[in-house]
Amino acid sequence: MQEKLTRRDFLKLFRLLPFMFLSSELESKAKKLRRKTYGRNVLLIVFDAWSARNISLYGYHRKTTPNLLRLAERATVYHRHYSAGNFTTPGTGSLLTGTYPWTHRGLHVFGSLLQTFDSNNLFGLFPDHQRLAFSHNWLVDVILDRFRKELDVFHLPDEQAVYDGLVADGLFQNDYQASLIGDRAFFFIRNELPSSLFAHHGNRYFKRKKAARTNKKLAEAYPYGVPSFGENELLFLLEDAIDWSVEQINSLERPFLAYLHFLPPHGPYSPHKDFANLFVDGWKSPEKPLHFSAGKWSEEQIDREHLIYDRYIAFVDSEIGRMFRLLEERAIFSDTVIVLTSDHGEIFERGLLGHGSPAMYEPLIHIPLLIFEPGQSKRKDVFTVTNSVDILPTLLHIIGQEIPKWVEGEILPPYGKALEGRSVYVVEAQEGSQFRPLDRATFAAINGYHKLVYYKGYDGFDGVYEMYDLLNDPEELNNIYAHDHSIAKEMKADLLKKIKVGDAPYIK
Ligand SMILES: [Zn+2]
Repeated sequence: MQEKLTRRDFLKLFRLLPFMFLSSELESKAKKLRRKTYGRNVLLIVFDAWSARNISLYGYHRKTTPNLLRLAERATVYHRHYSAGNFTTPGTGSLLTGTYPWTHRGLHVFGSLLQTFDSNNLFGLFPDHQRLAFSHNWLVDVILDRFRKELDVFHLPDEQAVYDGLVADGLFQNDYQASLIGDRAFFFIRNELPSSLFAHHGNRYFKRKKAARTNKKLAEAYPYGVPSFGENELLFLLEDAIDWSVEQINSLERPFLAYLHFLPPHGPYSPHKDFANLFVDGWKSPEKPLHFSAGKWSEEQIDREHLIYDRYIAFVDSEIGRMFRLLEERAIFSDTVIVLTSDHGEIFERGLLGHGSPAMYEPLIHIPLLIFEPGQSKRKDVFTVTNSVDILPTLLHIIGQEIPKWVEGEILPPYGKALEGRSVYVVEAQEGSQFRPLDRATFAAINGYHKLVYYKGYDGFDGVYEMYDLLNDPEELNNIYAHDHSIAKEMKADLLKKIKVGDAPYIK
């Protein structure tokens, strides 16, 4: 009888592929020599939905990040860094391609980027590095799945799960997007009925039962539940994922480029017991008017979730401290450029909780960024406005590679020229088509301390502009937009021009 190839066997073989292509020893030696000239290892670490607003390194009043504060003494700290999107797909797409969402068109939940980015991405630009990627977030895996031919090692989330509720990935091991679409079409109910109502309920019951068992087993350590993605979908331990990923990196050939995208502090917020009782201070976020997309949350619910989110950040911070210790012990810290950042933020005000709405307030888009250079012993602080699209060109610059023309970001200070006067952008367009002009979307432009927000195509909120002075009004309470305001006029003209360029290929 012929033996069947199991999913795990397939993954093992997939990882061996790049080595199989090295046809001779000579070729391998030549490659090693070339690698030496590029030298440096690169490690890009993302914690998902990690808002700068809730990080004490950036001035938050709750001491959520003591480890980050200590590590920052050896890093360049970017104080005004923005994501290019307000949820995972656009934010991560921009981080990995150096282009804005209106260009890469990763606009939708579970969406992927345009085909041209299958090779035009961070990994494709580091061909002589050993390239690894891992994420717990399925939305990220859908993006990474399309980059597979540029990845030497691609780990799927279930390799680091204490429970994985995804059924279909066993059926389509070579196409993660297909497996997710299959799973969702068959088992999920969102706005419409799934293809099999029976399968949906059966699957849900099965998952809930299995997940409940795992949660019960670990209830003492995780009083709010075990960290997870989605409702009973994927349960994992951040501690294990960190231990495992450091070992994965350590076993890579040098130089390497590793992308690790951990889900915490993304909801559901699940701090470890050691952090589950922090910050009992009765603090409430300042009262603000409701946003037009506000949910049905009560103020008490929002404040409660906000508190647990802060505790989850404190847990993440402690794991970051531990991870950097492990990197140091394995001498990875001393010869690797390390970038620590997020894909977007999280909000707890104006009737909004979490992320994924059309809103563009600071808690949703202002994210942390720290860059650690080998041997750096002094902290540097950068107050220029920067964006996720800048990370790819900066890394290329650091390893001495040329920056391709299609990249829209700039080399970050202190590595490149001063970027004062430049606008950076944030794009949200999850309700429209990937291949049509962005006619239902929110855009934000940030220039210095001015922020312009443009809502387009939302019922009852179409063509609405807002402008905030972030220096004097960091809480964004006072909309100073007026069509004759000179800065507003300039920023609006620039933004509309940029939108037009992004839409141009889709106008018939
Ligand atoms: Zn995310």
